This record gives sequence, structure tokens and C-alpha cells, in this order.
Amino acid sequence: MDKSIPDMYGSLVFNDTVMKKRLPSDVYKALHKTTKYGASLDIDVANTVAAAMKNWAIENGATHYTHWFQPMTGVTAEKHDSFVSPRSNGEIIMEFSGKELVKGEPDASSFPSGGLRATFEARGYTAWDPSSPAFIKDKSLYIPTAFCSYSGEALDKKTPLLRSMDALNEQAVKVLHLLGKKDVTHIDTTIGSEQEYFLIDKDLYKKRKDLLLTGRTLLGAPAPKGQEMEDHYFGVLKPKVAAFMHDLDEELWKLGVPAKTKHNEVAPAQHELAPVFETANIACDHNQLTMEIMKKVADKHHFACLLHEKPFEGVNGSGKHDNWSIVTNTKLNLLDPGDDPYHNITFLVFLMATIAAVDNYQDLLRVSVASAGNDHRLGANEAPPAVVSIYVGDELAKVLHSIDTETFEGTTEKTEMSIGATVLPNFVKDTTDRNRTSPFAFTGNKFEFRMPGSALSVADPNIILNTAVASTLEDIYETLKDVKEDMEAEIYKLLKKTLDEHKRILFNGNGYTDAWIEEAEKRGLYNLKSLPDAVPQLKDPKNVDLFTKYHIFTKEEIDSRYEIYLENYAKTIHIEALTMIDMVKRDFTPSLFKYMKGVEKELLQKKELLGAVHGYELRVLKELDACSVAIDEALEKLEADIIKAENTDDSLEKARLYHDVILEDMNLLRTPVDTAESKIPSEALNYPTYDELLFSLR
Ligand code: ADP
Ligand code: MG
Repeated sequence: MDKSIPDMYGSLVFNDTVMKKRLPSDVYKALHKTTKYGASLDIDVANTVAAAMKNWAIENGATHYTHWFQPMTGVTAEKHDSFVSPRSNGEIIMEFSGKELVKGEPDASSFPSGGLRATFEARGYTAWDPSSPAFIKDKSLYIPTAFCSYSGEALDKKTPLLRSMDALNEQAVKVLHLLGKKDVTHIDTTIGSEQEYFLIDKDLYKKRKDLLLTGRTLLGAPAPKGQEMEDHYFGVLKPKVAAFMHDLDEELWKLGVPAKTKHNEVAPAQHELAPVFETANIACDHNQLTMEIMKKVADKHHFACLLHEKPFEGVNGSGKHDNWSIVTNTKLNLLDPGDDPYHNITFLVFLMATIAAVDNYQDLLRVSVASAGNDHRLGANEAPPAVVSIYVGDELAKVLHSIDTETFEGTTEKTEMSIGATVLPNFVKDTTDRNRTSPFAFTGNKFEFRMPGSALSVADPNIILNTAVASTLEDIYETLKDVKEDMEAEIYKLLKKTLDEHKRILFNGNGYTDAWIEEAEKRGLYNLKSLPDAVPQLKDPKNVDLFTKYHIFTKEEIDSRYEIYLENYAKTIHIEALTMIDMVKRDFTPSLFKYMKGVEKELLQKKELLGAVHGYELRVLKELDACSVAIDEALEKLEADIIKAENTDDSLEKARLYHDVILEDMNLLRTPVDTAESKIPSEALNYPTYDELLFSLR
């Protein structure tokens, strides 16, 4: 490492410091107004910024620039243009104009649009998002952009996120003014997204078609050891993994991504990285960068980084906890309860707005985390159930109880914690414990939404969260705006009423139990188990009203997203099914038959020599033969059902077939394959087994 961390941090980012240094002060101020308060941008300002960006980028080794955007594939997209511009005299100059900075025109026809745009209307635009800083990567200047169609419909995840942040800002500021916080002019949503991932050996990875093509293992008998010893969580980092994490941190720091915490996770070969929280839009961009850089650095260290939500059966999958809060321009965290939450009215109002929002739009929150991959986690006792509920912890439960019963029970005293050994320092204990099983947990000064899967764009859940809270804040504003006297009493009345209406969403117990699922049903909470169960909720009239009222999505944009969810789902499982068939036929069956032949030969020889065929070989052969028969039947069924599914036109019906039939068929095929796999030697197999994949990193 040739630079100190403070020097390295953000060294590849066109950040505020660089801008201040390189831009004339009037241009800097104009840009600042745009980035902070969304003022529109003048082309002269854009020209000056572009020139400064270009010079800075070239000095730092860049030759190209790219508009960087987030189409609805869930991953980022880029198309690089060089700064080079040839002159008639055979020389070149390096050029980059304000127009090129502000607007790009990638051909949009090959990105998912869910029917928004016919392929003959290929024009799409990328528009510079000045609120997220440009950066240099692989010798290109990356300009974060929004992506929309010729007629202005959003084709990406950034645009609706920015729209939702605006909606929340508008409503929150109104409510804050009503509560007397007149100095607040702006709020930001803050997000810290913890990222889980697996690291496995690259050579082993390359030998598994399923990992290469689908990101998860479709076959594989469990290893003799899983995660039951609980020895991996927070365990000592293996030197090779530590070296990877070190390198990863440095690469992220250079890009201004505030990587903070790293540790081993519950499953073998599973790890986590958590950044320091940032403004939602930047945090989302940075999470996309984090995922990309993880893969790149892993490759350099001879690993493969798996971001799939469920790469391995039988051990935990990976999530992405979405820590969410709201902060004012006066640096007040609106979800910070302070020492006396019962009397902290601002906090209570925002807490209650969040509770009401999560209850009103549980279904949309569930949709926002739906994917073929994440469906394997939710409700599988390793991640929250598919039922959305809120954990507030004991301290807040007491406060809410006080509001409900209109009797103030006093604040929870913070207590000194003494561990009982004199050399250890005493410290103040948190007033609440944690509840890991809750999908939406209050964690001290923020909420943590734990349903998102590891591969998800964090934009998705935050679009819903911001918009839903904007709407409940507006309800609160409407109720209180004309109150002339005794505002405080009116607020407590409203809090009580809201609490009464939305208590059903509060649950402090163990979310992994069947008893809770039954109870949730009694309370009338949604239990949308799979993506095809959840996605139709996008079109529920109350949800369409929400999206259109706050200009997050038009009706057409909702329809398009509905189609994309269903299409992606069906396509994902289709590819998985085809990959599975291919692996079974071309990788597994040859190994199985070869091994069976060997046993057969052994058996025949034994019979010839001893005249008897009883014994171990015969048992093995019979068992393997039974598997082989089951594999044949399952293959035939799966192949026939895929044809049926592919011949289904309606996207919802098709997704349902993939869920109800194809996934079941795949399980049916996997069982005999895995059983047979566990009876034949690893060296007879054409691909590495679970024990090698999960435990071979040293
Ligand atoms: P845990 O693993 O216990 O859930 P971590 O400390 O790993 O917690 O992660 C907590 C995350 O929450 C971090 O990314 C942190 O930056 C983020 N966070 C902390 N305060 C806020 C806040 N006010 N708004 C949004 N995120 C926050
Ligand atoms: Mg967490």
C-alpha cells in the first residue's frame, strides 16, 4: 500500500473536494444547488463541469467515459466512449462536452422494458444524476445516470428511487414544519446495506455448470458437516480470505465506498461486508459497485464470489439488510428516540408513520424483495418469513403501550452492565435486545429491513419504503394541519388512533415459528409465499393509487414492472431447469453409469469365483439402479412440463407453472441424483461436491 488510507479514500472520485478545487466558485455553487436541492442545471454550468471532469479524469489515467445506469436487469450497464476526437490534420484532441455529460442515447431495445417500448422504438436516454458523484474505474470516467425511454418512462431503478426520495422529502418537511421544526428545509433518506456473500475456490467454481450459469447449485448431496457447529459466524478469518477482504476494502475506499465492517457469516464460506450509511441514492449506487468489485477482487484472489441468495441447499443463504432512516439538513435523525422517547414527539410521529406505512403496504414491501433466488430464503427458517411484521423491542413497546393506555409508565432506565471481572470495563447496556427473526426491526435509531436478498438492488425496497412513509406522513399532515390549540394533545390522540389501527403489524416474538404464521393469518396479515403470489399486488388499486399519486410510477410503468418481474422469474427457472437437465444427462449420468458398470463387473466376477451374489456390491448396485430409474422418470416429467410452461402465454400463469410445477419437478429430480451422488466416490464425479465447495478454502 503506497498511500495512507485518508489519502487513498475517494482518490478515484470526482467528489466535493475535487469540485471545489477545480470549478470556478459560481459554477461550484450552481452545481451544489443541483446536487443538494435538485435545482435544474444550466448548459453553461454543465460545459464547465464536463471540462473539469475530463481534465481530472485524464490526469488520473482515464481514456474513456461512460454513462453508468441501472436497467431492470438488476445489474448495472455501461457503454464506453473515448474522449478522443480526431482533427482534419490527423491529430486528435481530448473532448467531452456538457451535452455528453448530461445526456446519453444508448440503444434501449435490448434492455427489459416489460412492453413499454417496442423494439422498433429503440431510443432510450441516460440522464446525468449529479447527486451521485462520478468516479474512475478501469480507465473510464463513470457518470451515474438515470435511464428512460423516448417518451420519458423510467426504464431503470434509479429514477423511481429519486422520485420516492423527493416524495418523502416533501411530506416530511411539511410535517416537521407543523411540529415546529421550521429550520428544516430538506430531509434525506439514509441507507446502510449489509452485503452477504460466499467465497469459493475459482477452479472448483468453473467445474460446476450450475454455478456458472445460474449462480446456485442445482444438485449436490449435503456435506457431512454443515453450519451446525456454529463455528464460522465471526470466526477467525482464513489468511487467504483476509487478504481478499483487505484488497476489497482498499478498492472500495478508492471509489469512495465507505466499507466498514467485515466478518464471517453463519454458513461455511459465507461472509459479510457492511458500509457506513449514506444518502439513499448514493448508497444504492455504492452497493451496486460493492457487488461488482467483490466479484472482481475475488477473481484476482482466485476465488469466485457468489451473490446468489441461495447458492447451497442445507446451509443459510445470503441476504442484504437494508438499514433505513431519515435525517434532516439540521442533522437530526428522525428515528432517534433520544433519552425520553415518550416525550419525543417528532420521533413518535415518524415512528408511527413508519409503522402505518409498513402495515398499509406490507404487500408492496414483499413484492419489492421478490425474486426466484430470494424465494428460497424467505420462510425457510434462515431468513424472516414471507409475512411482514415489525419488531420494536421492549423499550418502544412500553412507550407504545403508554400511548395506547394513555398512562405514562416512565422511561426505561439505561443500566450499567457489569461483567463481573474487575479488569473488564463496565458499559451502558442497550435498552433492547435484538430480534434476528423479524423482517422489519427497530434497531436503536433506524429500521432494518431484513427480507432483501443478497443480489437485489437496494433501490427496490427503498422506493416502496420512502413512498409508503410519504403517504402516511401526508395523512398525518392532513389530520393535524388545521389544529389551532393544544397540538400536543391532538398528536397523542392521533398516535393512539394510528396505533390502534396498525397494531396488528407489531410482533416482538420469534418470527420463525409456525405459531406466528397462524397468528399472522388471524391478524389478517399477508403471507405472500412466492413471487407469483406477491407480484399481482403491484396492480392492487390501493397500490396503483399510491404510485401514481406520488409520481413514482405511471400506470404503464407499473404494468411494465409487473411483466418484468414475472418474465425474469420464469426465465430464471427455465434456465435453471435446462441447466439441471444438462448436468444430469451429460455430467452426472455418465459418472453414475460408469461407476455402476464397475460394480457390476465386480459382482459378476464374484459370482464366477464364489458362485454367490449376495453382499455389499449387490446392495449398492440395487440402490443405484433404483436412483437411476427415479432419475429417468423425473427427467421425463421435467422435460414435458417445461414444454407446457413455455407454451403458456399469460405471464402470470406461466410464472405460476414454473413455481408450482417446474420447481417441484426439479426437486423430484434432485432427490435421486443427490442420493446416488452420496453413494459414489467423489473422483468418479465430473464436478466438485458440497464438501469440496464449502470447506476446501484454507
Ligand atoms: P448488524 O450486523 O448488527 O445488523 P451492522 O453494524 O453490521 O449491524 O450494520 C448496521 C448498518 O446500519 C451499517 O451499515 C450502518 O452504517 C447502518 N446504519 C447506522 N445508522 C444508520 C442510519 N441512521 N441510517 C441508515 N443506516 C444506518
Ligand atoms: Mg443486520
